[in-house]
Amino acid sequence: MADTADILIIGGGIIGVATALELQGRDPSLRITLMEKEPAPATHQSGHNSGVIHAGVYYAPGSMKARFCREGVQATRDFCAEHGVPIEQPGKLIVATSEIEVERMQALGARARQNGIEIEDVDQAALRDMEPHINGLAALYAPATGITDFKRITQVMAEIFVSRGGDIRFGAAVLSGSEVETHVSVRTTKGQFQAGQVITCAGLHSDRVIRAFGQKPGYRVIPFRGEFFRLLNQPEDLVRHLIYPVPDPERPFLGVHLTRKIAGGFTVGPNAVLAFRREGYRLLDISVPDMLDTFGFLGFWRMLTQNAGSAMSELQASASKRAYLKRVHRYCSGIRLADLAPYPAGVRAQAVAPDGKIIDDFLFVQTVRCLHVGNAPSPAATSAIPIARYIVEQVASAERIAQPMPGAKPERHQPIPLSIGREAAHREVR
Ligand SMILES: Cc1cc2nc3c(=O)[nH]c(=O)nc-3n(C[C@H](O)[C@H](O)[C@H](O)COP(=O)(O)OP(=O)(O)OC[C@H]3O[C@@H](n4cnc5c(N)ncnc54)[C@H](O)[C@@H]3O)c2cc1C
Repeated sequence: MADTADILIIGGGIIGVATALELQGRDPSLRITLMEKEPAPATHQSGHNSGVIHAGVYYAPGSMKARFCREGVQATRDFCAEHGVPIEQPGKLIVATSEIEVERMQALGARARQNGIEIEDVDQAALRDMEPHINGLAALYAPATGITDFKRITQVMAEIFVSRGGDIRFGAAVLSGSEVETHVSVRTTKGQFQAGQVITCAGLHSDRVIRAFGQKPGYRVIPFRGEFFRLLNQPEDLVRHLIYPVPDPERPFLGVHLTRKIAGGFTVGPNAVLAFRREGYRLLDISVPDMLDTFGFLGFWRMLTQNAGSAMSELQASASKRAYLKRVHRYCSGIRLADLAPYPAGVRAQAVAPDGKIIDDFLFVQTVRCLHVGNAPSPAATSAIPIARYIVEQVASAERIAQPMPGAKPERHQPIPLSIGREAAHREVR
């Protein structure tokens, strides 16, 4: 007989766990199971990120990112305060180092104000006073930006969920799912499961999981490794704020930034280089199926053509520490090559459309009994609690049956079972 629950959540990253906790809080009588293929929560993106609580400066006004990030700042602060998770609010300086960057910075400031984000213009003299080790022509100051440990937040959420009667199955990979009128049947590496509703929050595997549930995601996850360095030999007061470059509008990521860590010390990073394995944290981590998925997708080649300059520059910065350092030198010239020490990388799940466009906003795919989180890149860790609230509202609303969510492509086709589940099963997850 299949094991059962009212709601099955797939994925023990910050979004899956926040959703489990939110659902349980709304209706403690619900039987909720969360399945995670790894032996612990936050093993992938939620445990390998910059740890920055983004204020919401960058995001297109009216987007889900803009809304959930703004709400997420306060929600994350409240959660950390209530549960004793370390958090600080150093604020962020976005530093312009050339005239063209000053122009872009001004546009960014206008966007932040449109998003209702508190932002201040900082001139060169004030920048020197605020950060004597930083060089720039001007800056934007976002006081709401903070730092925390998203892995810890996910662990604490998981502990609370279990302590209130929630069920987490680690080492259980979901292979496929099929929806019938009365329930969803799910095949896992630990046997059959049946649930009234399923919510998938599978991060780097989101597109495969959507396909394994018989839907067409309409995008492919392209994995981008973000490499960091820890800074050695620095004074305690190297910087008081987080230091970011002005993002290049041609590039999808925020640029190599100098970040104070909640556990102490500083890092610079991350860059963005194509990973040859979806969960490949080292340069030589290679998976043939993952590479075939990337290189066999026309959208990848279109994206590469559209971003050729930026791809070359990212490769260069990955291959050469000196090239990487050059990026840091633009705003902090005192760092030397010998100060860059290894620090664990992260891999971002970035959804790319068949036309090569990077899908910027959060994306959900919904059917009658399943809700799949499609694209949840940065600032999804900051936004996890509002995203969870949104998911719960969608799942609870009867209207959702008639109303596909924004971006949804609820076209049915044959379920394609996952092979990653088998990989995870071989790893034997305790
Ligand atoms: C380098 C880097 C820096 C970042 N910096 C920031 C930042 O400073 N601030 C910020 O807000 N955001 C940041 N982000 C983004 C943020 O970390 C992610 O958006 C967020 O963690 C996504 O959470 P998730 O739960 O969707 O995914 P994940 O944390 O990746 O979790 C997905 C989980 O699903 C599990 N899973 C997948 N398939 C299956 C299956 N078939 N069966 C069972 N389990 C499965 C996986 O094992 C995984 O644990 C950064 C990301 C990276 C990579």
